[in-house]
Amino acid sequence: MFSFLFGHKNTKPRLRFAPSPTGFLHIGSLRAALFGYLLAKSQGGDLILRIEDTDQKREVTGATESLIKVLKIMGLEFDEGPHLGGKYGPYIQTQRLDIYHEYSDKLLAEGKVYRCFCSEERLTEMREAQEAKKEAPRYDRLCRDLSVAEAEAKIKAGEKFVIRQKMPLNGEVKVYDELRGEIIFKAADLDDHVLIKSAGIPTYQFANVVDDHLMEITQVTRGDEWLGSFPKNILLYRDFGWTPPKFIHMPLILNKVGGGKLSKRKGDVFVEDYLAKGYLPEALINFCVLLGWHPKSDQEIWTLAELKKEFSLAGMGASPAIFDTAKLDYYNSYYLRQKSVAELTKLCLPYLVKAGRDIGDLKRTEKFTALAQDRLKTLSEIGATTDFLFELPAYAPELLRWKILTLEEAKINLARLKSELEKINEGNWTKDRLEKTILTWIKGIGGQNGDYLWPLRVALTGLKNSPSPFEVADALGRGESLRRLNLA
Ligand code: GLU
Repeated sequence: MFSFLFGHKNTKPRLRFAPSPTGFLHIGSLRAALFGYLLAKSQGGDLILRIEDTDQKREVTGATESLIKVLKIMGLEFDEGPHLGGKYGPYIQTQRLDIYHEYSDKLLAEGKVYRCFCSEERLTEMREAQEAKKEAPRYDRLCRDLSVAEAEAKIKAGEKFVIRQKMPLNGEVKVYDELRGEIIFKAADLDDHVLIKSAGIPTYQFANVVDDHLMEITQVTRGDEWLGSFPKNILLYRDFGWTPPKFIHMPLILNKVGGGKLSKRKGDVFVEDYLAKGYLPEALINFCVLLGWHPKSDQEIWTLAELKKEFSLAGMGASPAIFDTAKLDYYNSYYLRQKSVAELTKLCLPYLVKAGRDIGDLKRTEKFTALAQDRLKTLSEIGATTDFLFELPAYAPELLRWKILTLEEAKINLARLKSELEKINEGNWTKDRLEKTILTWIKGIGGQNGDYLWPLRVALTGLKNSPSPFEVADALGRGESLRRLNLA
């Protein structure tokens, strides 16, 4: 059903991701981009990238390029944007200042907004007095009724001004959110907030509305921290005589521990941090989509390709989503296990280099990563997980003992194992062959598995806990395995 299209010239759904270039990409922003992308694609529509850089104090150089890069790694592609062009550009707000001025002039001429000449000092005093009385800070509307002549005289005298939105003085403002239904705001609670700052730069509240209209956006997906702005935005659409797009305020993301909004203090919140730690894009996507979307079945694993078909507004809810990193680890382990050994090794190489490992022998490195594959939660764990393969750790001889086995007995058992293993040639040196041969041999001599396999495993790994001796021997190869046995 494309009922949301009424009032728009366009017949194709158009959604936008509208980040502010203030630094790294927050997980919440990734989810916003993802939901925008999926709603657009599942309806055969377009996704537009618009850079909202009107808060120049918070802008970080390079942030736009970096977020484009990260979203590309995630597999999210745009149809229009500053990097792609398109017929609704420019797509960077500071390049659209003339457009905003044209539209604010229109509202000024119609008396729907007004110039406010109040000084910073006056506004600060007002705010402090309101805070002292525990009142919500708001503008007292002193300039709202200035006559045109008074305003012009002030401009002539060189006084600076901002442009404020004229809020209704009484009554209610009804808005409609696609997930929450109707929400009613009391006009008395709305502030005549600033639309254009004194330097002629629009605020989010103004630029966002003008752009969503001019770019013919049909559905707005944004975080629910914008719910408070919703009545102001809708009133602005009304002032312009425009039909607003549909609004979908995505639910809050809460920390698993202690609740509260997902914050940096409680752990990583930036996509770049997760990528650096070795979380795979497909795991992050799978994890993020379930922060507010509830599939019809209990299917847990979702690829982007499937989501493009299956995602729908009907599955979205308004109740807060819990950010559970254990869940993210679960998805990452899953997707790591799906990789071929060659792919996995390629992904692990930078982490192994960082851990100072000699990766010159690629075949050997592949054997090591294959052994680690089922045990990894993130790629960055590859160093610690395979250390003992690259280099035998120093261990106390005591570790070779198993239960009541004496050190002397352990040594004898190891010597016997060694001569058995020496009979197995390079070509037969595989986990299955080794396991079969050695277990049969132990059985044949009437021995206990633990008395032989424990010392063997310790001799090969130097560790108290590790994978089975046969897996390790296979990964190490014949030469290195026998060398380690000799040492033991
Ligand atoms: N620039 C806003 C932000 O980064 C966009 C909110 C919206 O999507 O409207 O939060």
